[in-house]
Amino acid sequence: MDILDACYQYRESEIVKATGFYPFFQVLSASDGPTVTVGGRSVVMLGSNNYLGLTQHPEVLKAAHDALDRYGTGCTGSRFLNGNLEIHETLESELADFTGKEAALVFSSGFLANLGTLGALGGAPDAELFLDSESHASLLDGARLARCRRLRTFDSPSELARQLETGTAWPHALVVTDGVFSMTGRIADLQSIVELKRRYGFRLYLDDAHGFGVLGPQGRGTAASLGVEQDIDVLFGTLSKALASLGGFVAGDRCVIEYLRHKARTMIFSAALPPASVAAALAALRVARRDRDLFDRLWKNVSFFREGVERAGYQTLGSSTPIIPLFVGSEALAFRLCREALEMGVFVTPAIYPAVPMGHALIRTSVNPAHTREHLTAALGILATLASRHPLPQQDASTIPVARSMDLADLAHRHAAPVDGQFELAGALAIQDPGTASL
Ligand code: PMP
Repeated sequence: MDILDACYQYRESEIVKATGFYPFFQVLSASDGPTVTVGGRSVVMLGSNNYLGLTQHPEVLKAAHDALDRYGTGCTGSRFLNGNLEIHETLESELADFTGKEAALVFSSGFLANLGTLGALGGAPDAELFLDSESHASLLDGARLARCRRLRTFDSPSELARQLETGTAWPHALVVTDGVFSMTGRIADLQSIVELKRRYGFRLYLDDAHGFGVLGPQGRGTAASLGVEQDIDVLFGTLSKALASLGGFVAGDRCVIEYLRHKARTMIFSAALPPASVAAALAALRVARRDRDLFDRLWKNVSFFREGVERAGYQTLGSSTPIIPLFVGSEALAFRLCREALEMGVFVTPAIYPAVPMGHALIRTSVNPAHTREHLTAALGILATLASRHPLPQQDASTIPVARSMDLADLAHRHAAPVDGQFELAGALAIQDPGTASL
């Protein structure tokens, strides 16, 4: 069989596009942070991870410009050999200081940080990895890279406890969890996991992509907000969300970081994070540490928006973070609402299976301190109009059973001519692999 057969036969994205509701790869032609230009129109951006709204902050922009002038556009090689800049090391020491760890290591993306770190740590001869079932693809791929033969998943601390009960001590195990779950904004029950850690002696890896820079004092993250910072052995954070840049890091004991510097394949064999991105992240970190007002504006906006969407009739699933999910249940409805919202002036994104259980589709929104009251009021007006136009589930979301198939196929049948009779829509979204559950 031709190795490219799968590509030649791939039709699913075409089917979804023909419905007119394809929500992915939207082309943005300009952005000022809280608004973006799509199809020549300015719309309010509620679909980003720009949690502190710092992508256009004057100090962040200036730092990036200055770094371009000083170092040029790229490092053209890995940090290991020829691309290790002074500002990489400054950023690492400030990240270590901020997170209360001995050392930190910056990679060229968050994905590469998780992949390289789990790839290295999971390769210990008797390593056992416990991954939260909502773990990001980069963590699952890290376990695969490590060829870790003992990999388990858990969907709650009680499920983890049941698995750990089969042994008495687990020093060879690494438990991996998110701090804030990316689609629902749910905060992990780290305290219960830490209690298990004290009993069973495993090591704990926290992927705090969505909590770092946002929760806790000065935005030190989920563990800091729950008082368990010292219990995290390896802390992962990304520079591409709250810190308004690109890149990722891990922080921990000096010996762990020194090991990863020399063993993580994604550190050694990939070009260094470019100077402008390093400088932007460093400037954003300094702004976040200094500017109390930023957090004040963030949390006021979060409450204002969450209360507004709840008044409009949306269930927000108990989120207490800047990620505010709007429960819609039906995948087809989520696609339709996102399309109509965009046409009316607000950019939001759908979350469907396997990012959420089947039939539990969401519209994922997030607000940040750069949104003005005018932006949020306009967005609330649009979302309220959509809620009055389309029937939203009124039942408590947790009582709605998980469906056996997505109702998107029905949407495709009604709106598009079937192509070879195939409606494998999960495939269209490249998400059939549970390792991509969290986006
Ligand atoms: N972990 C989680 C939980 C994420 O949501 C993401 C990105 N969405 C990553 C890791 C990867 O980070 P990056 O986008 O910076 O590569």
